Amino acid sequence: MNDAGRFNLLTEKWIPVLRTNGRAERVGVLTALREAGKIRQIAASNPLDNVALLRFLLAVMLWCRPEMSEADRVSLEGAAGVPGGWLTALLEHEMAFDLLGNGDRFYQDPSLKGQSIRPIADLLVEFPGADSVNHMQHIRHDSCVFCPACCVLGMLRLSVWASANRFYPASVNPGSAAYAVVQGRNLLSTLIENRPKQELPTGPAPWLSNTPPDSPGTIANLAWRPRRLWLNVSTTAGLCTNCGCSGVTIASVCNEGGWPTPTTAGKIKKFWADDPHLLSDDEPISLPGLGTSVASHSSRFWKDALRLRNDRTGKAVAIGPVVNKFIFQDAVSVSIPPCEAQSHALLADECNRKIRDLLRRVTPNPDRQHPEFASMLALMTAHTEVRIRDCLKEPDQIADRSAWLYDMYSPVVEGTVAATTRGSHLNKRMISYLATAALKAAIKKLASQPSGTVVGEAKKRSRKQKGGDT
Ligand SMILES: [Zn+2]
Repeated sequence: MNDAGRFNLLTEKWIPVLRTNGRAERVGVLTALREAGKIRQIAASNPLDNVALLRFLLAVMLWCRPEMSEADRVSLEGAAGVPGGWLTALLEHEMAFDLLGNGDRFYQDPSLKGQSIRPIADLLVEFPGADSVNHMQHIRHDSCVFCPACCVLGMLRLSVWASANRFYPASVNPGSAAYAVVQGRNLLSTLIENRPKQELPTGPAPWLSNTPPDSPGTIANLAWRPRRLWLNVSTTAGLCTNCGCSGVTIASVCNEGGWPTPTTAGKIKKFWADDPHLLSDDEPISLPGLGTSVASHSSRFWKDALRLRNDRTGKAVAIGPVVNKFIFQDAVSVSIPPCEAQSHALLADECNRKIRDLLRRVTPNPDRQHPEFASMLALMTAHTEVRIRDCLKEPDQIADRSAWLYDMYSPVVEGTVAATTRGSHLNKRMISYLATAALKAAIKKLASQPSGTVVGEAKKRSRKQKGGDT
């Protein structure tokens, strides 16, 4: 914060990063780009912020350097960061990145001054809004103040994750959308890898005008402004409720509906069909709600992300929120196995589907439904799915798919039998023996099928059960 009471995003320290030397700190936009080769990654505590910040830095880079030639790309290999000469547009428009000054402010509309004053908690979904009952921080919505850095994080997060209601439009995609980003060896390579592969119209920058662009390009879409905002700076210094740092605080925000969500031509739903990071299967996918089973939570999202990772080569993560209408209830980040793991994942899914039936068949009364199996299997699925995902980080190491499937699922079968079978130890051992033998037979049959059959069946089921449990 400088003497004039300003907070310029180009130079102030607000982007949380982890440097390659292990030091964690906050940096401004200029340092983040100029030293991107020495920064391991953006390191916000909430995974939603990591995506929002990456997309904002990508928008800035695209604005500064709309075209990147092969020679440019080669020149960045092993570089310490983005060359200073590429960032002249930032210095020419330095004032557009001022957050708290008396003139034009970053992502704020002066015409809102004094109107629709709301608690600053509106900016970060972890904090309760005026009438929400489900939130991650259990405090009163009017008792918190944020530092300028946390305010910017919240404002940029709205670009990617803002829900719609009758007062406010959604972000560039629905508030429940999930994204996949490639993780390079440092921030510079992450920026290069996640830059849109297709040549898309770049369009005007959203930080230069409060008016929504007529035909938004990639830059505006990456850093969309679904809210009209004005930050009301407190007259006294204090402690930020979110990060704990001391200094200037903002206690309230004027908050009104902003730029309407753009609709991509040919699509009924409002989302950016060319979004380079969106996980989309005809339309954006989302995480299961908190009301669905633990088995669905642990198995569905990472498999959807693997199926939809497409040309995202290298190490990648999928990130998304669990949203109930306007309330964000969770934020999830999972690593995505490489594309080569897809057929293994589908095979594991098919095997998982057969377990309940084979368990039922080896009981003395196979015609009964046995609801106890469903609850026990759901309980054991979370751990099994983590084991499967870990193995699939290196799918080449799986030489014998039958042995691998048996290794993954025999503990599930044995554990379920042990927990649900009544009678003597001898009876339990016999049922366990019959169940594991049935599992072996089912795996043998599955593994002998051509992989195309399993993929086809899984796709058919995915279309039929979209939105339901796996
Ligand atoms: Zn803070």
